[in-house]
Amino acid sequence: MATERKALPVIHKTRCTGCGWCVAVCPPHVLSLEVAHWKKFSQLHDEAGCTGCGKCAVRCPFDAITMVRIPDLPPAR
Ligand code: SF4
Ligand code: SF4
Repeated sequence: MATERKALPVIHKTRCTGCGWCVAVCPPHVLSLEVAHWKKFSQLHDEAGCTGCGKCAVRCPFDAITMVRIPDLPPAR
């Protein structure tokens, strides 16, 4: 049985400036800007909807997104 491989973006909040570029380029619109205290940062709000395309990581000018491979998707909730 083939294992579906997928990568998910990990957003480093210390480097994220909240510029919103990644939100704009995400094809399925699963990234959004959240506000915590005084700071905005990007957040993956729909993990299941992410295709793992990596466009957000490529687009981020601040190198704040790392694509991390996950061997198996967690079971659907
Ligand atoms: S990897 Fe692709 S689908 Fe997933 S959050 Fe980034 S741009 Fe959106
Ligand atoms: S493109 Fe990078 S710095 Fe800008 S909101 Fe997204 S993760 Fe943060």
